[in-house]
Amino acid sequence: MIKTKISNTFVRAHEICPDKGCYLFDPIVDANKIACPECGASRQSKSVVKMVNIGDHVSSMLACDEFRGEVEQYREVIDARTDQDPYTDFFSGSSYQELRSRGLFSGKHDIAIVLCVDGFTSHVSNESMVMIHVIISRIDPSIRYTDDNTFQIAILFGDTKTNFESYLRLIIQSLNRLSSQPIIVKRNGFHIATSKVYNLGVIADGVEIN
Ligand SMILES: [Zn+2]
Repeated sequence: MIKTKISNTFVRAHEICPDKGCYLFDPIVDANKIACPECGASRQSKSVVKMVNIGDHVSSMLACDEFRGEVEQYREVIDARTDQDPYTDFFSGSSYQELRSRGLFSGKHDIAIVLCVDGFTSHVSNESMVMIHVIISRIDPSIRYTDDNTFQIAILFGDTKTNFESYLRLIIQSLNRLSSQPIIVKRNGFHIATSKVYNLGVIADGVEIN
């Protein structure tokens, strides 16, 4: 699944290694670093990569009546399942039941996402790129992979493989926050949804993640 457009809304800039792009600086942990820890290149505030903020994007999706309706409807489907039903996806399985018993997914609009990391090479420039996108898994499988229900958070260029963990770090941190601090969605001052976001995992294709 390759998309070429990244939504301009909700985009945040993150500082990266200015030479090869081999490291993404954490604004807190790396506040005092003056050079890339991988290649030694001097840090420059202009070298940035842009990433979509997942919480902001999910909020905008939940503000849409149609999407919220899909979340509510699939929740009913999941809740009605019994042990005798065939396995259709993660929400049929025992891992999900265990998470449920621990109090996860208790909110009506709580959702689950999967982070997808695709490595590919541009036919035009031979440059290697990595694309990260989000699949919302807590909606019906028939619409789960459509353009409206998935979104891209970044396209990365350069030597990101050297320390890909540094690129994933901020994303994972934001997902950890979203699983404990719910998103509150309001429209015209009225509350319409409260949602925690749970990350079910990272699917990586063609990228070595250390
Ligand atoms: Zn570097």
